[in-house]
Amino acid sequence: MQQYVTLNTGAQMPMMGFGVFRVPDLKECEDSVYEAIKIGYRLIDTATAYHNEEAVGTAVRRAIADGICTREELFVTSKLWVTDMADEKTAAAGIDASLERLDIGYLDLYLEHQAYNDYFAAWRAMTAAYKAGKLRAIGVSNFYPNILTNFCECVEVVPAVNQVELHPYYTQEHGLMAEESALDVMHRYGVVPEAWAPLGGGRYNPFEEPDFIAIAQAHDKTVGQVLLRWNIQRGVVVIPKSTHVERIRENFDVWDFELTADEMATISSHDMGYSGTRAKHFEPSFVRMVLGKE
Ligand code: NAP
Repeated sequence: MQQYVTLNTGAQMPMMGFGVFRVPDLKECEDSVYEAIKIGYRLIDTATAYHNEEAVGTAVRRAIADGICTREELFVTSKLWVTDMADEKTAAAGIDASLERLDIGYLDLYLEHQAYNDYFAAWRAMTAAYKAGKLRAIGVSNFYPNILTNFCECVEVVPAVNQVELHPYYTQEHGLMAEESALDVMHRYGVVPEAWAPLGGGRYNPFEEPDFIAIAQAHDKTVGQVLLRWNIQRGVVVIPKSTHVERIRENFDVWDFELTADEMATISSHDMGYSGTRAKHFEPSFVRMVLGKE
């Protein structure tokens, strides 16, 4: 049975969702989202930067028209890209453009994709859209401990969610130099953690890790299911991506087993304490690249 976490708005957010990053083929995206909803997923995660919001909206409308679920049962998330975060007016237009592309009435959650450009001005536009009911909750993504702390201490509406890279190789349980880890800061301010790349995002090769294979075998589950279950048991929302129906089904089937405290610790012990992806949020060259400056 799907589990839910309560946001600071009082809304219930499903703990298992479906991501559509790097699914540029719109028909493939639409069909994957439709299949995911049919299998039981109720949370869908897209973004302006993924260029597939229209396909997500089409799949959602199709699922509702086919009687699979109601709009109210779904939890659709999208994100504002950094070039739309130059000032309040640009951000307001960016939010409206997402709503128009999705065409599903409102969004359950909308995130600032990165803590770059004028993310305070953009947040004022997000707050206005939240108060107007266009966005039912607002949150952030890739906000690391110092930035999230400053943000939560200064804004009127505290983010409901922070979506960051979170898997056994980057657990976010330990700060490197920071006193508090990314998860500690989220817990302090009541911000729900959401994992991007919960399966490693096609990197790190977790599927051949002997520790993970042994734990999976002990529960008659797959490594993917163990990794997703590990995050859910830590109170972290997961949004695995796949365009293969059998994997979409496999990833959702994580409700009938429980990892022991020892197994949780073994999985967490693989933490490298840093990201092995190209997304080096602390590197000046990465910031310039995301801003389109180099
Ligand atoms: P992920 O979900 O960890 O991994 C996806 C990769 O794993 C794909 O290559 C997929 O291949 C494969 N896969 C899926 N299920 C599998 C299984 N059961 N066994 C083996 N391989 C499996 O990575 P992600 O897509 O990078 O992250 C998930 C979602 O997070 C994204 O789709 C997006 O919505 C969000 N995200 C957000 C940010 C951000 O900055 N906020 C960044 C990255 C991602 P196939 O598709 O071929 O099955």
